[in-house]
Amino acid sequence: MGLSKTIWTNPTEFLRNQQPENPVLFFAPQAVQATARRFLDGFPGLVTYAVKSNPGEEVVENLVAAGIRGFDCASAFEIDLIRRLAPEAAIHYHNPVRSRAEITYAVQRNVKSWSVDSASELAKLIEMVPAAGCEISVRFKLPVGGAAYNFGAKFGATEEVAVELLKTVAAAGFVPSITFHPGTQCTDPEAWGSYIREAAVIARKAGVKIARLNVGGGFPNHRSLGIMPDLEAIFTTINRVASESFGADRPALVCEPGRGLCGDAFAVAARVKGYRDGVHVFLNDGIYGSLFEFSQIGIIDRIEVLDSQGHKRTGAVHGKIVFGPTCDSVDRLPGDVPLPDDIAEGDFVVFQGMGAYSTVTNSRFNGFGDLGRCTVLSLKL
Ligand SMILES: *Cc1c(COP(=O)(O)O)cnc(C)c1O
Repeated sequence: MGLSKTIWTNPTEFLRNQQPENPVLFFAPQAVQATARRFLDGFPGLVTYAVKSNPGEEVVENLVAAGIRGFDCASAFEIDLIRRLAPEAAIHYHNPVRSRAEITYAVQRNVKSWSVDSASELAKLIEMVPAAGCEISVRFKLPVGGAAYNFGAKFGATEEVAVELLKTVAAAGFVPSITFHPGTQCTDPEAWGSYIREAAVIARKAGVKIARLNVGGGFPNHRSLGIMPDLEAIFTTINRVASESFGADRPALVCEPGRGLCGDAFAVAARVKGYRDGVHVFLNDGIYGSLFEFSQIGIIDRIEVLDSQGHKRTGAVHGKIVFGPTCDSVDRLPGDVPLPDDIAEGDFVVFQGMGAYSTVTNSRFNGFGDLGRCTVLSLKL
């Protein structure tokens, strides 16, 4: 059930006609292409796509069709995917810890851009990667708020270490650059502002003129009803602060959005399996399925409920306790989920903004997780 070659008008039409028993992921190619053009028009530099957020081939193909020419890859699998679907594209291998086998693999596939955040990993790159025409970006971190999830907890050098790494990169004959990731679903443009100012300090202290500054991902998608992500405000801040901080030494800019590009091109419809006591809703998808990220960065509140005939439920909305299908009590969406009081067994709960970190983190725990796929012209119900 659920796999369909036909393009449907919208999720409502598919759900009413197909009555899927498994959760369904809806993809609107036009939406991902429109967002790609928004980045290409507005971002003052090269736009690359962080493949890990959604490595679906339909996503990559539509991004390429819209004009995206660079990809941030984290693994050999992603490098292969991009070499197959976009042979000429630039690949940035920006997972800063790699095995020697992975380094060899990427060198053989013409990867020319790497990131690093420690002396030991830089030593491996210097030993194994031919320097000519090859870029190494030093990744640093700041204790900045504003993101839904702090990436600095795992990767990123302190200022002191970054200065030393940058000197070493330049001395070894690589193209020296700097990169950072402000954290995912970052709605405050100042998160980028403070990182860019610090990047300029690092370059100055190292005495190295950097070729490029990669401002990472973190661009938000539309998760909250009341907050429309303002990408243009973020682009403007990045552009202004880059000029202010670097002056005549302003590097070329690169960004590597994942969520910001793919998030709003998908919706997920889960079905109500059971409704108990007017407060407990049991869905056929949960945090072991495509809703995993809710447990990490909070719930998407762009939710609508359709009855089995595709009519929108209009009852008063109150918080409900929502469980996924597995037998594990952890399999609960965080907090109270706003759902209409007239919700009933057999209804479809549609979550918008589900393109990033959904298909990729879907496990098959308890035998669930079989996601139907459907392409639609529009995600509007
Ligand atoms: C995950 C990741 C991204 C994408 O992050 P989003 O928040 O999805 O934009 C970009 N760059 C690197 C190095 C990453 O690890």
